Amino acid sequence: MKANIKAIAFDADDTLWVNEPYFQEAEKQFCALLENYIPQHSISQELFKTEMKNLHLYGYGVKGFVLCMIETANRISSHTIPLEVIDKIIAIGQDLLQKPIKLLQGVSETLEQLKGKYQLIVATKGDLLDQERKLKNSGLESYFHHIEIMSDKQISDYQKLLQHLDCNPENLLMLGNSIKSDILPILELGGYAGHIPYHVTWTHEQHEHQLKHDNFLELKSIDEILNYL
Ligand SMILES: [Mg+2]
Repeated sequence: MKANIKAIAFDADDTLWVNEPYFQEAEKQFCALLENYIPQHSISQELFKTEMKNLHLYGYGVKGFVLCMIETANRISSHTIPLEVIDKIIAIGQDLLQKPIKLLQGVSETLEQLKGKYQLIVATKGDLLDQERKLKNSGLESYFHHIEIMSDKQISDYQKLLQHLDCNPENLLMLGNSIKSDILPILELGGYAGHIPYHVTWTHEQHEHQLKHDNFLELKSIDEILNYL
């Protein structure tokens, strides 16, 4: 693998910095607002249903999440939700957009080691402005040659990224916390991929099966990649 790799792409949320715990915290606040209508776990399920229904319209990110919370609140309450509650839902979303950036362990040290040796890239989903804010506040921006904020992480999205980078798949290593979004499409294209699990994963990104592939690495933390390069 070592000889092949020219570019290393990093997923951002829950790979470089904390993200999903913030969303789960927001969801808990949302469920607490509606607990008089139905039990909290049912509210979570209803919200997830709404998110999956609208994913093709909104894509990933906080703004779509807010619209899904409002739609779910309307449905659960049979359109009787007080407008003050809608205000509170909007506030939950605005709060999410202003969370501090907490880098995950080993991130800065790993990037410091890799800089100058590889072309370093961020490949992330989410709202453009929000991801730009997070990157800026992370202090990591200067490590990266290219930032790709993707509407999705399907094979075709990565093909576009590779074309843009003028990089062959076999020269790319992608690192991320989601097997479904960060690993499988890259392996399918003939690239290399390293999975760095995070302790919480959004239901939509969960992947149950054990993965075995010649170009695949299972890592415990991001700095373990240095042993393979
Ligand atoms: Mg991620």
